[in-house]
Amino acid sequence: MASPLRVLIHGGGIGGLTLATALARRGHTVEVAELRDALDALGVGIIQPTNALHVMREIGVLDACLDAGFEWEVLTIADPTGNALARIPQPRAGDVPASNGIPRPALAALLGDAAVTAGARIRFATTISALDDDGTGVTVTLSDGSTGRWDLVVGFDGIGSPLRTRLYGDRYAPEYTGFANWRVTVPRQPDVRGVVMATAGQEAKALLTPITDELMYLGAVFAEEPGFRPDPERAHEQLAARLAMFSGPVAEALAAVTDPSAVVHSRISQVTVEEPWHVGRVVLAGDAAHASTPHLAQGAAMAVEDALVLAESLDATDSVPAALEAWETRRRPRAMWVQAMSRAILKQEMGAPTTPEEDALLEVGIPGAAHVLAKPY
Ligand SMILES: Cc1cc2nc3c(=O)[nH]c(=O)nc-3n(C[C@H](O)[C@H](O)[C@H](O)COP(=O)(O)OP(=O)(O)OC[C@H]3O[C@@H](n4cnc5c(N)ncnc54)[C@H](O)[C@@H]3O)c2cc1C
Repeated sequence: MASPLRVLIHGGGIGGLTLATALARRGHTVEVAELRDALDALGVGIIQPTNALHVMREIGVLDACLDAGFEWEVLTIADPTGNALARIPQPRAGDVPASNGIPRPALAALLGDAAVTAGARIRFATTISALDDDGTGVTVTLSDGSTGRWDLVVGFDGIGSPLRTRLYGDRYAPEYTGFANWRVTVPRQPDVRGVVMATAGQEAKALLTPITDELMYLGAVFAEEPGFRPDPERAHEQLAARLAMFSGPVAEALAAVTDPSAVVHSRISQVTVEEPWHVGRVVLAGDAAHASTPHLAQGAAMAVEDALVLAESLDATDSVPAALEAWETRRRPRAMWVQAMSRAILKQEMGAPTTPEEDALLEVGIPGAAHVLAKPY
């Protein structure tokens, strides 16, 4: 892009702040409209696989991520008692580390700092009220009453994306998979130096993920009725009951959970926008365009890849629409592959019938997928 662009990003989550940093570092004028009034995040952790860490290096925050998190290299598959059945080294994307666990609030804070340091402005408690794309630019009115004109508007506003509804109506409402994820942060056990995936056949799977020297999080997925919500007074006991077949490190982690409000319960849904991800100069990215189940720990990784590739696509041409076409051509196959693979793993783990296409993906498996995704995006 020969001259700097004016870019409005709707949503200051993981993808939106990564894009804000990547664009502001290139000299574009960037504002982020974020609905929340601060960059807080769920008090649990997230895995940054090697492809996400590669993006973090490209926007200058790799060391900050590693300092705030827990770098690890080996995925351990264990039985319900914690005995290791397999140790699977994780691949590296070039010379960046294989993986990093990090508390979500720490990641939000460091990405926010990076965006502001690069020159982006973050407007909190703000959302888009009206939007008019006349082909040469987009006039946007924000909820604070201000109006501005932008060359590009990016919807990084998450799985429930209001911008998606504005563009496509309710054609791509999140689809509940029938499963929910439970997460809780506990003290890290000294032996948990990488992700430990303990499985009890198709009955249950529990993951221990180190996120700092002191902390790790316990995560588990269960089939649940759409209307189910944990009892706010007993959520920790409900989680323990669901994982009763585990002893060893999982049971030890559960024993440390005495506060029901520490348990985070998330319904697992997915979204696939089948139509082009951009309408004129307004584009959707990250979960807003292609939310997947968390079985490959790649949703945020796809969001940050979307962000960096969008910045690179804008570098390569003077036409915003042409950049958006080129961006989607690069991004859609990879994001759809992650989504299909994640869903196939969910179905396999829960004993649900799989299609021949899903069976082919399952032959690649989680270890194979890690190698596929470590390759350049
Ligand atoms: C249980 C679970 C575990 C996961 N674990 C991993 C993992 O280990 N690794 C991984 O890579 N991914 C993981 N993911 C996926 C990951 O969390 C998402 O894919 C990622 O956060 C998507 O980033 P995003 O920027 O697209 O959206 P988000 O991070 O959801 O950000 C959306 C932002 O938009 C804002 N917003 C919403 N509405 C508005 C509005 N009207 N106006 C302005 N702003 C608005 C929100 O407040 C938010 O800040 C997991 C997901 C789940 C459910």
